[in-house]
Amino acid sequence: MNKEHGSLSINSENIFPIIKKWLYSDHDIFIRELISNGSDAITKLKKLELMGEATLPDDNKFRIDVIVNPEEKTLKFIDNGVGMTADEVKEYINQIAFSGATDFLNKYKDKANEDQIIGHFGLGFYSAFMVADKVTIDTLSWQEGAESVHWESEGGTEFTMTQGTRDTRGTEITLYLNEESYEFSNEYRAKEVINKYCSFMPVEIYFKNANAPEEFEESVETTDPEENAADDNIIDAEVKEDGTAVDKKVPKQPEPINNTTPLWMKHPNDCTEEEYKEFYRNVFHDYKEPLFWIHLNMDYPFNLKGILYFPKINTEYDSLEGTIKLYCNQVFIADNIKEVIPEFLMLLKGTIDCPDLPLNVSRSALQNDGFVKKISDYITKKVADKLSGMYKLEKESYENFWDDISPFIKFGCLKDDKFREKMKDFIIFKNLEGKYITLPEYVKASEKADTDETAEENAAQDKAEDTSSKEKSEEASDKKEDEEKHVIYYVTNEQQQSQYINMFKEEGIDALILTHNIDQPFITQLEQHERSYRFQRIDADITDSFKEDNDEEGLKAQHDKLSELFRKVLNNDKLEVKVMKLKNDKVSSMITLSEEGRRMQEMMKMYNMYGMN
Ligand code: ADP
Ligand code: MG
Repeated sequence: MNKEHGSLSINSENIFPIIKKWLYSDHDIFIRELISNGSDAITKLKKLELMGEATLPDDNKFRIDVIVNPEEKTLKFIDNGVGMTADEVKEYINQIAFSGATDFLNKYKDKANEDQIIGHFGLGFYSAFMVADKVTIDTLSWQEGAESVHWESEGGTEFTMTQGTRDTRGTEITLYLNEESYEFSNEYRAKEVINKYCSFMPVEIYFKNANAPEEFEESVETTDPEENAADDNIIDAEVKEDGTAVDKKVPKQPEPINNTTPLWMKHPNDCTEEEYKEFYRNVFHDYKEPLFWIHLNMDYPFNLKGILYFPKINTEYDSLEGTIKLYCNQVFIADNIKEVIPEFLMLLKGTIDCPDLPLNVSRSALQNDGFVKKISDYITKKVADKLSGMYKLEKESYENFWDDISPFIKFGCLKDDKFREKMKDFIIFKNLEGKYITLPEYVKASEKADTDETAEENAAQDKAEDTSSKEKSEEASDKKEDEEKHVIYYVTNEQQQSQYINMFKEEGIDALILTHNIDQPFITQLEQHERSYRFQRIDADITDSFKEDNDEEGLKAQHDKLSELFRKVLNNDKLEVKVMKLKNDKVSSMITLSEEGRRMQEMMKMYNMYGMN
C-alpha cells in the first residue's frame, strides 16, 4: 500500500475546541468510547462467525486490553475484533466520523450556552482528541489476505495512513496524552474510569500497567506433585526429595476487571435472592438490605432490562435519595438521567439497560422523544404493578414496608398522574391504633361510630320531644356542602399532639398518622382529586365533634374578654376568637389552628426544600 496523506474534511479545526468545551466535565468519557468500539468490533466478528462468514480458531478468546504507560504518558486500547481494512479506515475514520462531527457542529454551534449539551453521550472515536495530542490506529482486518494499516493524526485535523505492522487480527489504538490529561496514564485513575463505565461490559477487559513489574503469587506448597503438574499456572516448580513441590515463581493469572454477565441480563427465574442482594451491595455500596426489588425484563416492543431496588430509608426527608444507573448494552451512560427516568423513580436504587435508547442525540432531544416517553411509562407501570400486586397478594409485607415505601409512593403520586391513577386504591394510612387502613375504611368506621352514637341520641331524644326534628333538617341542608365531605383527622406529631390524641381516643374518634413532610402536599393533592375528603389536623378547628351543644350564649362574657386579650398580645385587632365549651371536662383549654393557613405554610416549606412546583 502506498503512503497516503490527506486533509481531513471541512471545518474539522473548528470541531475540537467545541468538543473540548462541551465535554469538559466528562473528559473521562473517551475511555468508555474506545472500549465500546472494541466491544462493538468483537460483536461484529461474533455475528460474522454465526452467519458462517468468518471462521475463528478453536482457541479464540475475545478480549480487550487496556495498557497504561505512566512513563511515556500513553494509553493503549487493544481488541481482537473485526479490525479494519485501509478502505474501512478511510470510510469509517476519515470520513464518516468527521462528517458526523461536522453535523454535530452545525447542529449545536448556536447552543453553546446550553450547559453540557451532549454531556454523557460522547462522540465516539474522536473523543480521544479531548485528551490526546496524537492518536494512532494499528489495525488488521479479519478478512483473508488483509493488510495491516497504520493511521495517525496529530491534533485530529490531518492524518497519515501507511502500511502497518500489526500481525494479529484486531485493532490497537494508542493515545499520546496531552499535558492536562496525564492523569489518565495513572494506573488507579484509569482503572477508576474503566470501573465507572465498563464494569458490566459484555467482553472481558484486561488491564495492565506497562511499567509495573510482573505480579507473582505467594509461593505455594503442596504435597501432591500430580496436582501441581496439572496446574497450568505453575512454571518452574521445584520438587523436593520428599515429593512436595515448591513453586518458585507463579505469575498471577490475569483476571478481567469487569463482570461480563450482570444480574439484570439473566432471566428473573434464574436469579436467587442472595444474588439480588449481593448485586445490590456491590453496585450501590449499601450494606442495608433492600426491602424488595423489581426485575425488568422486556424484549418487545423495545428491549429493556434492569433491576429496581426499594431501599430501606429513614423517615427523614433528606435521606430520600436513590440512584438509577442507566446502561446501554451493558455500557454505563450516567446516573439519574432525568430525561429517561421518571423523577420519582430516582428515589430508588437500580440499573436500567436499554440498548434502543437514542443516546447519540442531545439531552434536550431525548426529552421530547416519544420513544423515550414510552420507556419511562413502561417503567412506571411496572413499579405500580409490583406495588399493587403486593397489596393484593402480600398485604402483610406491604404493610410492613409501608413506612419505608410510602414517601416514595406519595412522591410518585404527586409527580406522575399515571402512577397516581394506578396507585390510588392502594394507599394505606396508619391510624391511632397502629393499624393500616384505607380512606374508605376510615370513613366507613367513622360513619359506623357516628350512626351508633346518633342511634343512642335519637332514642333518647325520641322520648323527650318529637317536634324539633323538622328544624334540625333545615339547618342541616345549609351545611350540606360541607358535610358531604368526609373529614379525615390526622396527626403530624404524636408527642406534641398527644393531648388531642387522648381526647380523640376518649371520644372514640380515629385519626391517621401522617408524620412525613411529603404528607402535606400529598393530602392536598388527594383533596383535589377526591373531592369527598377533607383532611384536618387534630388540633385544627375540631369543634364539631367536641363542642357542647347550645353553649354560645353563656360564654359571651368570656369571649369578649379573651378576644381583647389575644388581640392585644398578638397585636392584631382583626383576630377572630371563638370560645366554646368542650364536652370533655378533663381538658381545661386547647388552642386550635386553622387547617388552611397552617397547611399552606408547611407546603411552602416543603416546596422550597424539594424544589417542587
Ligand atoms: P460509532 O461507534 O458510533 O460508529 P465511532 O466514532 O466510535 O462511532 O467509530 C466510528 C467507526 O469506526 C465505527 O463505526 C467502526 O466502524 C470504526 N471503528 C472504530 N473503532 C474500531 C475498532 N476498535 N475496531 C473496528 N472498527 C472500529
Ligand atoms: Mg463508537
